[in-house]
Amino acid sequence: MAVNTTNQTYGLWINGVWKEKTEVLEVLNKYTQNVEAAIARSEKKDVDEAVEGAKEAYKETFSAYDRYLVLTNTARLLLEKKEEFARVLVAEVGKPIRDSRVEVERAAQTLEISAEEAKRIHGEGVPVESAPGSENRMAFTLRVPVGVVAAITPFNVPLNLVCHKIGPALAAGNAVVLKPAEVTPLCALMLAEVFKEAGLPDGRLQVITGDGAEVGGWLLENQDVKMFTFTGSPRVGEIIRQKAGLRKVSLELGNNSATIVHKDADLDKAAALIANKSFNNAGQVCISVQRVYVHQDVKTPFIQLLKDKTEQLQTGDPLDETIDIGPMIRQAEAERVEEWVNEAVSDGATLVTGGSRNGAFYEPTILSDVKREMKVCKQEVFGPVVGIDTYATIDEVIEQVNDSDYGLQAGLFTNDLAFAMKAAKEIEVGGLIVNDASAYRVDHMPYGGVKKSGTGKEGPRYAIEEMTEERIIVLNL
Ligand code: NAD
Repeated sequence: MAVNTTNQTYGLWINGVWKEKTEVLEVLNKYTQNVEAAIARSEKKDVDEAVEGAKEAYKETFSAYDRYLVLTNTARLLLEKKEEFARVLVAEVGKPIRDSRVEVERAAQTLEISAEEAKRIHGEGVPVESAPGSENRMAFTLRVPVGVVAAITPFNVPLNLVCHKIGPALAAGNAVVLKPAEVTPLCALMLAEVFKEAGLPDGRLQVITGDGAEVGGWLLENQDVKMFTFTGSPRVGEIIRQKAGLRKVSLELGNNSATIVHKDADLDKAAALIANKSFNNAGQVCISVQRVYVHQDVKTPFIQLLKDKTEQLQTGDPLDETIDIGPMIRQAEAERVEEWVNEAVSDGATLVTGGSRNGAFYEPTILSDVKREMKVCKQEVFGPVVGIDTYATIDEVIEQVNDSDYGLQAGLFTNDLAFAMKAAKEIEVGGLIVNDASAYRVDHMPYGGVKKSGTGKEGPRYAIEEMTEERIIVLNL
């Protein structure tokens, strides 16, 4: 069924049409907890059909210029439908309406950047003639698409992160089979129709839904899939890495992001940015500030400022224009966060503000005097909780930040250039953000982590490198 409103049953998007299924999964409105829509539950044969259709579509010519046009058109159409998409994001994620509009704008930008990159995918000249005996040869490389790419995406940013997969994959000339998160699949399904309206050839983008482990497992079994691009938890990332075998894999995983507030920092600015970037999307952002290391000399004023700014944040109905923070994705997640905070407090942390739960809502919470072995420090909270610790020396804080299984991004507030440069060299992350919190991203920058935060980069230009093979052509003249 072709649908682009909620309260509908969505089919699977295969070869440019909806394939209806009798078995469905419900998608809840995360604020009201009412059923918002139903999605199809794929069977193995549907997954294979989607991959086969993508493989066939991939064989058809789809020039770089046409890819550019389709991606540009999709970005334009998406902006025309901004309000419609934003309201679906509010419903399926519980993300406040103002932030949901920003996500739609950013998704359009991601597609636009991908469109631009489609026109400049190039290899390079390789001077083979400089090797003895190769004087009469010349060589260059080409970047060729990998073929069928499977994209598996998480619940928290279900439109822009989908665009970060589909945009570069299509720009590079691939065909894509997308499996969005089953709790937030609606915008991805709506986007498929927008791509068709924008002129995308049928089969170049397939969207299949259902139980994550089941559908993911069948995709991994299908050897016609040549690459997996995944954003989600380290647990599932590891499964994908193991089952993908020798095929290409790009993994954007979790983090327990740190931000340092040095003694020379503009404390007011640091507190404002950290309050905003710790609790945005109820802390369900992979680069949300989770660990704050503040210099011992400025601990007291900084905590007071952060507390004041955090207490100004409004929690409630995400459709309300004044709301900053909505519910978490499900009550069980809010209960987990509550348990971790309570455990930290009973192990000696001080509750500065927050700490209470109401259904799936968890209050923006600040803990101080945290210890590194506490779950709120060591593991990824993925909720609205910040833990503050202090440090005395630069070497000490770099060691504290690096004492993590993860390494996606970190923030550092300082005007000390020598400290900033030392941190740039020594902090083990994919990105260091100076004079801002860890949660900074624009869509064309390289983005990806080290350690358990994953492997491979996003940002259309960098993702296109992941989603193409570099082939050398040698001419014997
Ligand atoms: P998740 O790992 O539970 O699910 C991600 C996707 O994997 C979903 O589509 C799910 O259905 C699918 N899946 C589940 N089991 C699978 C299996 N066995 N095989 C294949 N696919 C399977 O993650 P989530 O809860 O949706 O998202 C939260 C996580 O995502 C956090 O860890 C967060 O840090 C991470 N994340 C990372 C980034 C980044 O860019 N690094 C961005 C956003 C979110």
